Formats: sequence, structure tokens, C-alpha cells
Amino acid sequence: MSDAIQQLTGTPVVSGIAYGPVIWPGPRPEFVASTVELSDVDRVREVDRFSAAAADVAAKLRDRASASTGVAAEVLSATASLAEDRGWLSAAGKLINAGSPAADAAVAATKQFADLFTKLGGLMAERVTDLNDVRDRVLAALTGSPEPGVPVPDSPSILFADDLAPADTAGLDPQLVVALVTRLGGPTSHTAIIARQLGIPCIVAVGDLATIGTGTSVLVDGTAGTVDVEPEPAAARAAATHWQAQADLVAAWAGPGRTADGIDVAVLANVADGASARAASSKPVAGIGLFRTELAFLDRAAAPTIAEQVTSYRGVFDAFSGLKVVIRTLDAGSDKPMKFVNSPEEANPALGVRGNRIAGAQPELREAQLDAIASAAAASDADVWVMAPMIATVAEAAEFAALARGRGLTAGVMIEVPAAALLAPAILAEVDFVSIGTNDLTQYTMAADRMSAELAALTDPWQPAVLSLVSMVAAAGRAAGKPVGVCGEAAADPLLACVLVGMGVTSLSSAPVAAAAVGARLGQVTMASCEDAARCALNTADPTAARAAASQALSG
Ligand code: PEP
Ligand code: MG
Repeated sequence: MSDAIQQLTGTPVVSGIAYGPVIWPGPRPEFVASTVELSDVDRVREVDRFSAAAADVAAKLRDRASASTGVAAEVLSATASLAEDRGWLSAAGKLINAGSPAADAAVAATKQFADLFTKLGGLMAERVTDLNDVRDRVLAALTGSPEPGVPVPDSPSILFADDLAPADTAGLDPQLVVALVTRLGGPTSHTAIIARQLGIPCIVAVGDLATIGTGTSVLVDGTAGTVDVEPEPAAARAAATHWQAQADLVAAWAGPGRTADGIDVAVLANVADGASARAASSKPVAGIGLFRTELAFLDRAAAPTIAEQVTSYRGVFDAFSGLKVVIRTLDAGSDKPMKFVNSPEEANPALGVRGNRIAGAQPELREAQLDAIASAAAASDADVWVMAPMIATVAEAAEFAALARGRGLTAGVMIEVPAAALLAPAILAEVDFVSIGTNDLTQYTMAADRMSAELAALTDPWQPAVLSLVSMVAAAGRAAGKPVGVCGEAAADPLLACVLVGMGVTSLSSAPVAAAAVGARLGQVTMASCEDAARCALNTADPTAARAAASQALSG
């Protein structure tokens, strides 16, 4: 590549190569604070105007939700609910009744909630983009300006933005918007989730984006995390076409997971409940590698009964009759607080009473859950394995294994804490299998909140420290002759999947939509080249170099 070509880099979140002109979303409505206090009559009129604008915004979002499917529909409905939120509406109403014009009230009420959400951190902080989007839509409705958001291009284009609100991304047509690049956002942001669903390349946290104007031709490499500005057109077009041919292979992949030289690698799905398991069963996956049991009970004030749990678990087991299902005991806490488990007072929940640690104060929850799992497993034909999250010591692993095996279950633990990775040989001696949760292992290794957009470069599973810990666990699994899975989102990255397999990982589980890309890539490479890619990646000092080294080893 010529030195003259400007290249921007960011955090790659969805693989793929696309070439085309840049488009930017239309400007957000301008807001100038008013200095006038409303008269009593005007206050009544402004409350009506505000309510009508909020209702109009909610109705439009709901219409778009019903015209969409899957995650897009969920995201649009969730944003519509914010526009209908009683707390927000009444905060704005109060401000208007105290004399603020509707636009000022909308801005101030949103700020109150945005500050609160930011303070709460984690998933709540991620919703601030949604709140601000609702505010801007209401401001536009109040002033009769066009809806803020993404223009519909005439030809395939690359969408650049500071950050994309869910309502912007949810309606995108992947034939016309062929890649997403944002200045902000993390690998688990809404932008990333929607890009994954649309199957278009996506890079987040790209600095200097604002210097690239509408109409500039760019080549986006969602695997490497690079954006080439005004590249040589013929080579750029060829790269995008080659990628498309790969994409066609992915579309045709039907499993099973196997390297080109015939080494089996189970390609599995992560699910949350019966509905997502049934949806996953239509994908070419060999089973479930992670059933996150907490997700079905997040809003509960009291623990679900054993009977309720059995019904929930059967929903997943029965969707994968005859196949492997790895079910995880409750991972309550941190980004997934549960009212009946966690204390809202905990100062540092990511390092607090989370996952398996809840059994310390409430052993009966884990006992009851294991009883429910055993009972659901006995009634189904699935090959059920059970594992515990957030294990940090050998004793915790041994205790959990005894409880699970006592109920006739195959017992494993997740490796999400660096301590557990370092102790992998001793932990593997106690359990039947381990599964590496790379989302948390990366967060805890790098001491970087997995939800933080600002820290996206650190929460990258290609970080050498993370690769090194994963490789230690995989090597320990090989030595012990026991399965080592990866069930964090790292397993959704086809290039990283090859590296993981080369390290000795025996199964890969992630969002079901990622399975075909991972499986197709594995089918094109030999185990020897995966091992070479792992060696080369482990020899680098940063994620960009690791990706490049692995890519070269696999294509050589
Ligand atoms: C992980 O940490 O990688 C994992 C799979 O668990 P969760 O994302 O549910 O925390
Ligand atoms: Mg985890």
C-alpha cells in the first residue's frame, strides 16, 4: 500500500471489507436556551405541545418497530418506550409548569436522566445515546424540522457517524449502507449489535473521523479495524469483491465445524431462553455453548420456583434434543443485577458478589437451580453440561463440581477471572471441562469496563495479555485431555476463532448469527496453519499486529 494513502484505525467489531463513498447523518437539531419565562396560559399550551411531540416521536418509532424484525424491532420499541417514559414526561411537564418552554424542558429533563444513567454506569450508561436521540427527535418535532438521522443513499455507501442512535441503525438497508464506522462506541454498543445483525463490516472508536467528508471514497476493513481514505480504486474494488465471494461461502456454510484437514471443532450458539434457542436451532450450530440462565429472570423481585426454572430450561434443552447444551448457573450481578440476589449498595459490583459468589450468602439459590437443571436434563434428550460463572479459585471449582456431579451432571466452570486462567491446570483437574468467557476475562485482565466506549481499545480480546491467558488455558486443556470452549464474543470473530483453535480450544460459542462465518473460515484452514497463526499472534505486542500476523499466517 502506498504511503500516500491516509489510514484511520479503530476497534473492529464486525468483519468484512466494503468500498464506497462516505455519508454522514443529518445534523442534530440546534437548541438555543430560552431566556423567557412562560406566562400561565402559554404553560398550558406548551405542555400540550410537548406531550403531542413526544407522542408523535413514540408513534413513529413504534411504526418502524412493527415494520422491522429481530433485534432492530426490539431496539426501536425500547427507544419508543423512552419517549413514553412517565418519569421523563412528568419531569419535563413540571419544568414547563414552572415556566420553561417545551424545548428547554425536554433538554433539561433529558439531562437529569442522562446524568443519572451515566452515574449508574454499565448498561444504563449505554442508554444515554438513546435518551439523547429521543430528545433530538422531540426537539425536531417541536420545531417542525426534519427527523434527525441517516439519509437514504442512492448507491452503496459507508455510513460515518460520531455515534449512532439505535433508532438510526435499526432501519438501515444493508444493500445501501454497506459498512458502519463510528468515532465513539464500544464493541458491545447498539451500533455493533445492529451491524452484526445486518452482517455489515463495522469499526468503532475511530479517531479523526470528522476530517473525512461526505462523498470521500473509503475502503473499510472491519477485520483489521482500518479505514483507507481515497485508496487506489481498482485494488479497493477487488478487495471488496473478494470479501463478497467469502461472504457467499459463508451463506452456503451448513456445518459441521471442521478444519480443512478434518479436525472437528464444535461451533455452538449462545442463547438466553427457549425462544432464542429455537431461533438458534435453525442455524448450522452443533448445540448450545452458553445458556445464560439469568437473562430470563432479570426483572424478578423473588427467585423463580424450581418448577418455573424447569419449564425455562426445558424450553432450551428441547430445542436441541440429542445435542450438547452447556447451561450456566446464575451470573447475577455487575452488568446483570438481579433484585432477588444483589445488593444495590455494592460499591464495585464488577468486583463484588457476582456469579458463583452469590452462593456464599444464598447457597439455597444455587442448590435449587442445580436441582432444576438436573430435573430438566433428566426429562430431556439433550446432552446437558453445567458450568459456574466467575470462578476464581480451585476450591470454588471443586465445590461446584461436587454439587453438579452429585446430581449426575457433567460439571465445568467458566474461566473469566485471570486468577482462574493462571490456575487452569489445577482447576481442570477438578472439573470435566472449562469454558473461557473472553468478555469478562478481557475486562478483568485489562482492568477496563467492558461497557466503556472510551476503553474499547483495551477491551479487545486480541490484547496480548488476554491471548496469552487464553493460550495457557487451552494448553492446560490439551494436557489434561479435557474440552476447553470459548463462549465470549471472541468466538464470533472468524480470524480469532482460527487462532483459538490453534491454541487448543475445542469449541466456539457465540451469537448464533456468527456461526456460519466462523465455520466457513475454519473449513478453509488446516490445524497446522491455525497453530502457526496462534504462535504468530502470541508473538506480537498489540492487537493490530496480532490480527495482521494471524491473517498472514493463515493466508500463507
Ligand atoms: C463472558 O464473560 O465472556 C461471558 C460469556 O459471560 P457474559 O458475557 O454473560 O458475562
Ligand atoms: Mg461473563
